[in-house]
Amino acid sequence: MNVKTRFAPSPTGRMHVGNLRTALYSFLIAKHAGGSFMLRIEDTDQERFVEGAVDIILRTLDFAGLTVDEGPDKDGGVGPYVQSERQKAGIYMKYAKQLIEQGNAYYCFCTKERLESLKTVVAGKEISQYDKHCLHLTKEEIEANLAAGKPYVIRLNVPQEGTTTFHDDIYGDITVENKELDDMILIKSDGFPTYNFANVVDDHTMGITHVVRGNEYLSSSPKYNLLYEAFGWEVPTYVHCPLITDENHAKLSKRSGHSSFEDLLELGLLPEAIVNYVALLGWSPEDNEEILSLDELIAKFDYTKINKSPAVFDMGKLRWMNGEYIKRMDEEEYLKKAMPIIEKTVTKVADKKALADLAKSRIETFNDIPELLGFFEKVPEYDLSLYTHKKMKTTPEISLDVLKKVLPVLENAETYTNDSLYELLVEFAKENGLKNGQVMWPVRTALSGKAQTPGGATQLMELLGKEESLTRIRAAIEKLEG
Ligand code: GLU
Repeated sequence: MNVKTRFAPSPTGRMHVGNLRTALYSFLIAKHAGGSFMLRIEDTDQERFVEGAVDIILRTLDFAGLTVDEGPDKDGGVGPYVQSERQKAGIYMKYAKQLIEQGNAYYCFCTKERLESLKTVVAGKEISQYDKHCLHLTKEEIEANLAAGKPYVIRLNVPQEGTTTFHDDIYGDITVENKELDDMILIKSDGFPTYNFANVVDDHTMGITHVVRGNEYLSSSPKYNLLYEAFGWEVPTYVHCPLITDENHAKLSKRSGHSSFEDLLELGLLPEAIVNYVALLGWSPEDNEEILSLDELIAKFDYTKINKSPAVFDMGKLRWMNGEYIKRMDEEEYLKKAMPIIEKTVTKVADKKALADLAKSRIETFNDIPELLGFFEKVPEYDLSLYTHKKMKTTPEISLDVLKKVLPVLENAETYTNDSLYELLVEFAKENGLKNGQVMWPVRTALSGKAQTPGGATQLMELLGKEESLTRIRAAIEKLEG
């Protein structure tokens, strides 16, 4: 079988992580099988349409490396690829009329008021099941209504007996009683198809073999089978993906601030890391390998191993993964991304490349650079308690004493390299009966105002240079003297 999958987003804004995962899984299923991946824009809900959203979709797929084989920009012979254009071309109406002729669908002219009156409340939930009133209109009545220009919808004529079984490759078989299914609308009064109708017509006429989407569509899926049956079409393979929740197990939503691909990019995350992480939201390879390139994902992806249970979006894990991508980045690409931020953050250190080297293994995102290296520019406000360190056996009093004694030694030092300064301070500690930590800790604190720094005391001095290092140590002495 020639596998063909599609990604069928509605252009309603930024690309949600769940949509990105759907796109990715569709892409991976197609590519793993050597098949093709299609893009279809589902803009039949004109009220939810957001200007510019199609561009966001195209840009996101491009950024994520999910190359589309067929779509609005790449004709593959089954277009148009935008539902509003398919509607204009009369595709949905043609199939709706076929169903009317077969007796599987009918015109419905019921007013809003009448439909309102059909609503009932069961167990606190409002349900409205259409009562097939218009199914019983005569041919003449229908024609008169149409000729009078009465607004109408077209509904599916769901059989009232029997059951319908729907198969999903992840969730298994789902069987429902037909009498519980509503005569769903296929064509709305504005002439546009409903999502439920359009996706069936499109998936079939566009040759889709595997339909991948979020499991919020699972409950409406049995209705699709009735449509496939009515048309005599082969049902595609369905792959519904589990819900994605935030760390508190609530549905991942805009409120979390990191629910879309663009949010994640703004947080400084790399497209490759985002794609890698998103692939693992509901699936993992047999060998449990976590860092996977797109090519490796294609090779390893087995959709039958997708999980049913909700996947938790763990920002900490994604940040860690991003850090792994940064560590593995080749030098040139890393410097291209890191240098502009370093240059903006630190002007006081000449050797920017050394700062970049220090940062590479320590940041999780490029946005971490200012926080990591900012002290090179300016010692932040800090508390004297920072000079207290049990293991290093230091206190503010010991630190003051040490800094005062070490200052002239550092003033007299001629070479300011990490090695020479290290030797000098170890020698100084020995001569003064101090432990190395009792010298290094106060010096490093004086230079940085931080409990943790990339690089030790002498490395910081080499980077800051003699003058700046001495200025900082003198300032610390003053601070400690109160
Ligand atoms: N247009 C639907 C959405 O964006 C897609 C559902 C599907 O893939 O069938 O949620």
